[in-house]
Amino acid sequence: MTVRNSVTPRAAGEVSHFDIETDVLIVGYGAAGASAAYEAAHAGARVLIVDRSGGPGGASAMSGGEIYLGGGTPIQQACGYDDTPEAMAAFLSAALGSGADVAKIEEYSAGSVDHFHWLVDRGVPFKPSMWDAPTWVPPTDDGLMWLGENSWPFVELAKPAPRGHRPTANDFGGKLLMECLTEAAESAGAETLFDTYVTTLVVGDDNTVVGAVARQYGRELTIRARRGVILTTGGFVDNDAMLEAYAPELLGHTKVSAGTDDGSGIRMAQALGAAVRHMSAGQVGISLIPGLAARGMVVNALGHRFINEDTYPGRIGQSALYRNNMGGSWAGDDTAVWVIVDEEGFEEVPEPQRWGVRPTHVAETAAELEELTGLPAGSLTATLTRYNEFATAGADLDHHKAPRWLRPLTAPFAAIDVKAGVRPPSEAGDRRGTGASVFTLGGLHTDLDGHVLDHDGGPIPGLFAAGRAANGLHGFGYISGTSLGDGTFFGRRAGTAAARNA
Ligand SMILES: Cc1cc2nc3c(=O)[nH]c(=O)nc-3n(C[C@H](O)[C@H](O)[C@H](O)COP(=O)(O)OP(=O)(O)OC[C@H]3O[C@@H](n4cnc5c(N)ncnc54)[C@H](O)[C@@H]3O)c2cc1C
Repeated sequence: MTVRNSVTPRAAGEVSHFDIETDVLIVGYGAAGASAAYEAAHAGARVLIVDRSGGPGGASAMSGGEIYLGGGTPIQQACGYDDTPEAMAAFLSAALGSGADVAKIEEYSAGSVDHFHWLVDRGVPFKPSMWDAPTWVPPTDDGLMWLGENSWPFVELAKPAPRGHRPTANDFGGKLLMECLTEAAESAGAETLFDTYVTTLVVGDDNTVVGAVARQYGRELTIRARRGVILTTGGFVDNDAMLEAYAPELLGHTKVSAGTDDGSGIRMAQALGAAVRHMSAGQVGISLIPGLAARGMVVNALGHRFINEDTYPGRIGQSALYRNNMGGSWAGDDTAVWVIVDEEGFEEVPEPQRWGVRPTHVAETAAELEELTGLPAGSLTATLTRYNEFATAGADLDHHKAPRWLRPLTAPFAAIDVKAGVRPPSEAGDRRGTGASVFTLGGLHTDLDGHVLDHDGGPIPGLFAAGRAANGLHGFGYISGTSLGDGTFFGRRAGTAAARNA
């Protein structure tokens, strides 16, 4: 028989005794939880972090470690870029899509340089050097990168500056980031409890959250939290029932998570009357190599270009999954996307940066490529002719790719089917799937201090949230670095607010 973990809140009067007492209980030890824990402990509260896994990390430790920071950080200055909080806020307001939380974006942008220093003071290293080409993660240890700020339409909306800050690593920086944050939280005095799954919130007579119920090795644990509970449990991409209810477009794709994003924190708070926002929104990482896409064309199942290929690659994925396909024209095959390159473009991207991606089809003419890929007859030929005219003229009148990346494509042509996936050259095996990797952006509605809000917009006493358990900055758009960015920034705010909630 499977045990049912009810999220229905438990009345404090029904709890005969608390096994553990603390001031601030933090549920989930990823980047948001560690940042909250540091600030709460630093403010003098007794802090307990509980995680269902055998140690800290969550998705944060697996991540690229990119953090969206700007407004004039020392790294930006050292690399020769001027930036302002206003330009950063203007970019984020546009890039994070309709419904983005403008108040949070302004606060985040105004506090970004301070947050940079806070991270550095916690030991997170950033190298003052720039990776100046579209990529998911710089293949070098460069600390700064563009995340679409210099691409259309943003280049016309805000003064561009690169704001992707990646901790010094020759690859993914999330592990290093988490090592620094856990060291900071625990040095500040936060205590930890692992292999412990929090199932239910405990509420006092006035609906104030006063603790939680957890399961550890099959037994129940009750935890009293005198000043508040902070939910930093991550999103809900691992919960197919929630995806079906809220974000069905994200079903069936590769899940970008540590396997622990079951939405439990969100459901516990919902059971107490918490409001949620943008639950259908998702980050869509499409399996293309940004350097190849920028040097060629990205086309859909109709053989049409649909976006400027030099933009932040996550926008290409979101566009494929949400916008391009919603009209029904490619219904049933929503991530059918090909990158079309020529030999020069392919060779310009060094082999290690291609992550094992090879052409799936090669042909001497666009018409032959149509036959090989199954694209409609004449479609790719027309798209290529138009693209080459724009490239010759130096202006992409359809999608505004920057002139730097425009060059007429010459035979032979290669098509790369994104469903073939990416794979480090060292790894064998077939990665064929939908070509998309997703995680959820929607979550609990919170204010600037991380209070979880109810349906009337008022705070639920004693309850806080941050990271992907909350909606954070996001509307329906996503830019890399804003997840770790808002999780650490507003996690800190939640930690401070909970510690003061005496
Ligand atoms: C491969 C990869 C690359 C990525 N790259 C980037 C990037 O470069 N920049 C960026 O901003 N984002 C990136 N992301 C996304 C980002 O890592 C996550 O969105 C972010 O780490 C979420 O942080 P969090 O603290 O909210 O959750 P997590 O880091 O996932 O932590 C949540 C923790 O809560 C625990 N937990 C969950 N439920 C319970 C429960 N009921 N009881 C107890 N514990 C519980 C989990 O075990 C987990 O440890 C990437 C993700 C992946 C997987």
